[in-house]
Amino acid sequence: MKIHEYQAKEILRGFGVATPRGVACFTVEEAVKAAQGLGASGPWVVKAQIHAGGRGKGGGVKLARSLDEVREYADKILGMHLITPQTSPEGQLVRRLLVEQGVDIAKELYVGMVVDRSSQRVVVMASSEGGMEIEEVAARSPEKIHKVFVDPAAGLTPEEAAGLARAIGIPEASVAEAVGILRALHQAFVETDGGLAEINPLVLTGAGKVVALDAKMNFDDNALFRHPEILALRDLDEEDPAEIEASRFGLSYISLDGNIGCLVNGAGLAMATMDIIKLYGGEPANFLDVGGGATTEKVTEAFKLMLSNPKVHAILVNIFGGIMRCDVIATGVVEAARQVKLKVPLVVRLEGTNVELGKQILAESGLAIIPAAHMADAAEKVVRAAGA
Ligand code: ADP
Ligand code: MG
Repeated sequence: MKIHEYQAKEILRGFGVATPRGVACFTVEEAVKAAQGLGASGPWVVKAQIHAGGRGKGGGVKLARSLDEVREYADKILGMHLITPQTSPEGQLVRRLLVEQGVDIAKELYVGMVVDRSSQRVVVMASSEGGMEIEEVAARSPEKIHKVFVDPAAGLTPEEAAGLARAIGIPEASVAEAVGILRALHQAFVETDGGLAEINPLVLTGAGKVVALDAKMNFDDNALFRHPEILALRDLDEEDPAEIEASRFGLSYISLDGNIGCLVNGAGLAMATMDIIKLYGGEPANFLDVGGGATTEKVTEAFKLMLSNPKVHAILVNIFGGIMRCDVIATGVVEAARQVKLKVPLVVRLEGTNVELGKQILAESGLAIIPAAHMADAAEKVVRAAGA
């Protein structure tokens, strides 16, 4: 789950990370009032709150030198469709702002952390090249990213944190402060079951202070049950409506850009299905795992979800009947196809328990289902059907 910058800053402040003072606002009037409350003379920064980075480049972060400018920028940014490298090409509608103190920046740095699966540890990354896209730094000059793989028993030690701080060029007088921030960020990450925590930029101010100017936190969905206070920060406006609908029915659904809808049981088979569609020159429109115990109702909802995407020109159902019996899934597919009055070509590949019975149900349904003998056959047929 993702949250907004202002929410992440609030969490991080609770752990002792220094940030500018700021106020979340929903209207222009609130923004002007917030700026007045932060200090009469400014400067202030007006920041679009959306679940995507790169806002600065897209015109979603503005430095205001007067209250009139705060008003002007708040008015401009609220309601705009902010386009950044991380949004869809249409952009994301801005409904919230963060108005905060403008900080005198001497140097922009980067710190972030994620769970590294291969070492099974939290990896803390830091770079002197803050403010830019860290992926670019990683690609062009990987030696500028310093890493510490944190021992889960010891946590991020003061020595490790100091090593990182010095490696990214924090002057000696500010190292202790940077150590405090790095360790607080790590503690916040661990205690909230984070998936990602990133401060880009972490800045050194003209006065030598170390301050988090941006904050991004993602959380492990599987751990949200023990963080109701974080779940309460969820902003459904920022999420894909199809994905929200899917989560209501226990379906794992991710929207993609192609035109072939995929309905599969099991995440591994769903990945393999997307791969083979690509191998045959097609593009999947979604990842969709109906899970092990798919009922007719679930399969029907899955069809509705796929078909709510106007780009879908063909559907591939790829089921391995292990615990799930093929006759049950075939009945579900036929029922669902009837209910949604399916108009796009439907290719079905079934394998496993009761497969013959399943195929018979499909053949006798009277629906124009295209049967496939195996995965390659299915991929070839659905790619052809989608192109037609
Ligand atoms: P994004 O990463 O989405 O572009 P940031 O919060 O990192 O958004 O803001 C972009 C840039 O705007 C920062 O790199 C920094 O230079 C500037 N900035 C952001 N917040 C402030 C602030 N409070 N004071 C001064 N400059 C800021
Ligand atoms: Mg940033």
